[in-house]
Amino acid sequence: MSSPRFAFLGNVELSAIFRGRSVPIELLDKAMKSGMPWVPTNVCLSASNTIPPDNPFGPMGETRIVPDPKRSVVLPKRDGRPEMLVHLADITQHDGAFWEACGRSQLKRALADLEATGYKLKVGFEHELYIYGLTEISSSAYALPGSRAVSELAAAVFDTLETAGTRLDQFMSEFGQHQFEISSPVRGALRAADEAVIAREVIRDAASGRGLRATFAPKPDLGQAGSGVHIHLSLWDLDGNPVTGAGDLPTGPAGSFIAGILAQIDAVLAFTAPTPNSYDRIGPSSWVGAYNCMGVKNREAAVRFVPRPAAEDGSNPGASMEFRVSDGSANPYIALAALVRAGLEGLADGLPTPQSIERDPATFYVDEIDALGIRQVARSLPAALAAAETVAPAWFGDLFWSAYGSVRRNEMNDAANSPHYGAQLARVI
Ligand code: GLU
Ligand code: MG
Repeated sequence: MSSPRFAFLGNVELSAIFRGRSVPIELLDKAMKSGMPWVPTNVCLSASNTIPPDNPFGPMGETRIVPDPKRSVVLPKRDGRPEMLVHLADITQHDGAFWEACGRSQLKRALADLEATGYKLKVGFEHELYIYGLTEISSSAYALPGSRAVSELAAAVFDTLETAGTRLDQFMSEFGQHQFEISSPVRGALRAADEAVIAREVIRDAASGRGLRATFAPKPDLGQAGSGVHIHLSLWDLDGNPVTGAGDLPTGPAGSFIAGILAQIDAVLAFTAPTPNSYDRIGPSSWVGAYNCMGVKNREAAVRFVPRPAAEDGSNPGASMEFRVSDGSANPYIALAALVRAGLEGLADGLPTPQSIERDPATFYVDEIDALGIRQVARSLPAALAAAETVAPAWFGDLFWSAYGSVRRNEMNDAANSPHYGAQLARVI
């Protein structure tokens, strides 16, 4: 029977750090009812703890951090430290009302809007990560020694995730030296994002308890493969029927949803690839999906359509639209909310399903690629932010955009002022 002494109430803020308050367990009920006070500016802190000078809150105001009773995990006892109960939380206005700068609340709102059009979203997250400090790492990608080297850590992670009522579907050795990949089970979108956050925090905690360091940063080592967060999306009607795949291709609604994402791809990147380090990862021939196209089974397409064998009734419950140009420096709630907002526009405009590009776009001649309307996605954070400027206030509100923009500008400033910016990011992301 677990007996944690403290509860940590945390929210993933705009620079994707999970921050919050630790309270003695006796205060948890009170916190559940009315939340605990929380400083609005905290949502704007950078990964290196600097405060954006132009953030909209400054020293003023007060919000509340309100734990979700359904989303928690118990971090195990270690090194003389007691167990700690961790609850995911929303940030609300002082009176409990929706607060634009809370990513988790923004995702709930976007999902409600999607549901109003007749669709629910299920999501599976795949994260790549580096784990430094393991011994006996093999230099052979995907080989048994890598999976063996991480197996003690992975087993501990699975045990802890059980206290959150979840698991991972894999914890395997990836291409880069010291790189691994985890995938989370497919869930309703909010729960999927919550479980991705929990899995990341549990892995970081388990690693640091073993003298290891786990990082989900997009490009911790310029000489090694980048780490993506591939987001598998599927649409379901309100009766619970899958409506993503028809045969090997997207259905009409899924096609419109994908077309909406591709129409706003650079704006979406401001939320899915939001740090200067993100653009060290993005480029052709790296399987990050650096082209603004959809392709069945194509890992160079921003959206890889993944068909799966049909079920007996002919439906295709396993089909997914895999968004590849996302990474661990993004707040997963905001990344998903941006994909939903762009997809909703595609549905509202009835956009046609994009042509499936079933070839590496790098192998086209220039006139061929131009004729197909294929180009590389934004190659820098300023380019992505400039694209987002035109849609973000409508998607997320003016206050959100003012806060979010200040965080991104500050991040660029941090990067410009530190030659070790990527390595610093990898210490916290
Ligand atoms: N590491 C690649 C990325 O940054 C993905 C490789 C893969 O397809 O697993 O997205
Ligand atoms: Mg991978």
